[in-house]
Amino acid sequence: MDFALSTEHLMVQQMVREFAQREVAPIIRECDRTQQMASFVLERMAALGILGICFPLKYGGQGMDYISLGLACEELEAVDTTLRVVMSVHVGLNSLGIFQWGSEEQKERFLIPQVKGEKIACFGLSEPGAGSDVANLSCTARKDGDSYVLNGEKMWISLATKAHHALVVARTNPEAQDPHDGLSAFLVELNSPGVSRGDIHGKLGVRAGSTGWIAFQDVRVPEANRLGEEGEGFKIAMSCLDNGRYTVAAGATGLIRACLEASVKYATERKAFGREIGKFQLIQQKIAYMVQSYEAARLLYLRAGWMKNKGLRNTKETSLAKWFATDASFQAASEAVQIHGAYGYSDEYPVERYLRNAKGAVIYEGTSEIHQLMQAGYALGYRQDGQLRCELPPYDPDVWLAETTSESKNQKDKVKST
Ligand SMILES: Cc1cc2nc3c(=O)[nH]c(=O)nc-3n(C[C@H](O)[C@H](O)[C@H](O)COP(=O)(O)OP(=O)(O)OC[C@H]3O[C@@H](n4cnc5c(N)ncnc54)[C@H](O)[C@@H]3O)c2cc1C
Repeated sequence: MDFALSTEHLMVQQMVREFAQREVAPIIRECDRTQQMASFVLERMAALGILGICFPLKYGGQGMDYISLGLACEELEAVDTTLRVVMSVHVGLNSLGIFQWGSEEQKERFLIPQVKGEKIACFGLSEPGAGSDVANLSCTARKDGDSYVLNGEKMWISLATKAHHALVVARTNPEAQDPHDGLSAFLVELNSPGVSRGDIHGKLGVRAGSTGWIAFQDVRVPEANRLGEEGEGFKIAMSCLDNGRYTVAAGATGLIRACLEASVKYATERKAFGREIGKFQLIQQKIAYMVQSYEAARLLYLRAGWMKNKGLRNTKETSLAKWFATDASFQAASEAVQIHGAYGYSDEYPVERYLRNAKGAVIYEGTSEIHQLMQAGYALGYRQDGQLRCELPPYDPDVWLAETTSESKNQKDKVKST
């Protein structure tokens, strides 16, 4: 078993770390206060190739593997969760879904501009009345000639007002005996007539990011924009979540690391009872737990990334990584605030932001309760994963790095030169 990261992995890690620490860390508190996403973030992530990190050169990507995607997410969330959320929805939930299920024509029209960051993508699954219970969503897509007519509302959609494209799951067959079989997935251009959207204000966390709603009123979506077959929407959505959850797990690992670093720094600076507080065993215990959870969370997400590279089904392992890392990051952030005492309760220090941001991730992409049900289901033999019609392509450097047109070579050189 080889635990070493490759030279390429280390390069990705360093490039993303430098971007996040140098360009975003200095302004993130203000963005969080004003509840505004910094205007340069998406553009810079696109320019650096981060939005296309794990896609083949022939689709405009960087030709890196799925572990690189995880490492990038860890670095991004070590600075702010909102940066990693961009990766979760744009890359994990949308672009990788098209990569896995899309036709070549759909890859040409949707994937390539997304990978290059020319178009931003989001994922519309949750609704006002359906989150965990996805199969009961009520958004409909009625077939009419060579298109579908979409009606309904999607809620809690990250990047709703920033995105150009959305992967939307809607009900195409209300009569299906099993409601899971009545859903289909669509690639929707959000400038289509009948689409309206807005931001949700007053969120506990991810305030420097964008979360909103999207409503569809008689929106015509060409049949050519249906992703996969009719009735495959639930399977597609779940496979997108396998990829989104991976990015959440890796990001939450970065958040634990940020809590650990902030806590160690503070514990060696702050004095009480004539000693730095790091000398107190109860403070040491909190720090020891952060070390433990960081290392375990990291191994769990790297294993999931390795399985993706190998083309192994990883729903179970990814769910475990996501559940563990997000619960642990919330715990680490809570203890980081405790270590900071009253100062941790103000935004003079970043740890209160970490705590608010960490809470979101134990809710989205499967609540902790849903992941517990999944893990118990696997252990008890109630749940198993069958073969999908389209699996996520395993990482193959010969394929990922092939067809190096001069344009895609320029894209790849971005990572090297930054
Ligand atoms: C910041 C943020 C960003 C988001 N971004 C997106 C996005 O980009 N796209 C998208 O589609 N969605 C997004 N979501 C929505 C998110 O995926 C849902 O909130 C999540 O799936 C939970 O659904 P819900 O909020 O409807 O809660 P519910 O499903 O109503 O659950 C409420 C409570 O009941 C529990 N519960 C539900 N069913 C069971 C059960 N069977 N057993 C035990 N307990 C159960 C839940 O665990 C939870 O504690 C986002 C949410 C947030 C907060």
